[in-house]
Amino acid sequence: MHRITVMKVFNTIAALQNELALLKRTSFNVGFVPTMGALHEGHLSLLKSSKEKDHCTVVSIFVNPTQFNDKNDFEKYPRNVDKDLEILESAGCNIVFVPNEKEIYPEPDTRVFDFGGLDQVMEGQCRPGHFNGVAQVVTRLFKIVKPCRAYFGYKDFQQLAIIRFIVKKYNIPVEIVACPIVRESTGLAMSSRNTRLCESDRAKASKISKVLFYLKDRYNSFHSVKEMQAYVAGELTLNDGFDLEYFEVVDEETLLPPDSLQQPVSKVGCIAVWIGGVRLIDNVNFLS
Ligand code: AMP
Repeated sequence: MHRITVMKVFNTIAALQNELALLKRTSFNVGFVPTMGALHEGHLSLLKSSKEKDHCTVVSIFVNPTQFNDKNDFEKYPRNVDKDLEILESAGCNIVFVPNEKEIYPEPDTRVFDFGGLDQVMEGQCRPGHFNGVAQVVTRLFKIVKPCRAYFGYKDFQQLAIIRFIVKKYNIPVEIVACPIVRESTGLAMSSRNTRLCESDRAKASKISKVLFYLKDRYNSFHSVKEMQAYVAGELTLNDGFDLEYFEVVDEETLLPPDSLQQPVSKVGCIAVWIGGVRLIDNVNFLS
């Protein structure tokens, strides 16, 4: 599907839009993959999906300060743009947008979004203001790139639900494409934050997905969410170096807890765990 072969890198909105205007003149479909860099196979799976569908793909690399409620986390977030560009070039990416903070936020963004309550649970509860920051940057990037499709990973399951919600609510003309979670051979969900784990914590962290997949396999033998939560807490203990922030079961669309596990709606088990000072999230859809 892709027609452009040489990868171009832009740091300014004006230069990027100039290029996109030329491409769109010949009715190009632009796919968009927003990232915060420190790229891995998970990000590349989004690029791959776009390459199958769109004439060209824009990948953005921008560590968005407004979505970090913890300054320390923002500062420690892994950054390696040179390596990212190499990875993107070998993966056949067409256009990379690497703006600095002033380019994205020439003025502070004071917009406050309404997420219809989707931000009141899990990540939204643990990271106040996080999703508002995500919405600020994603809506700005959509306005800059104007893609026909944008690709997001199930890895950030709540973020995906929120992006889908704002696209609908604010009538943003973009198709949201959801991509499956890419895992390491141990089952650990790939994440830029994994690079901050020491070798032994990284090995231990594979237990998180093992616990989720155990719950999925034995789904029918659990009678309540509480029972599942007790199982998870018993497996991921402080003694073993885990600090469990939450394990919740929610409806895929509303993010509300189900009345019972037997309800025939799509249910997702979501987890946030600290290990070795690094916060990891993962999830599993019990019914798919
Ligand atoms: P990030 O750079 O962490 O903001 O992620 C950029 C995009 O990549 C988001 O849509 C993430 O959901 C997606 N992503 C991150 N990790 C994975 C993964 N392991 N599998 C699939 N998608 C992922």
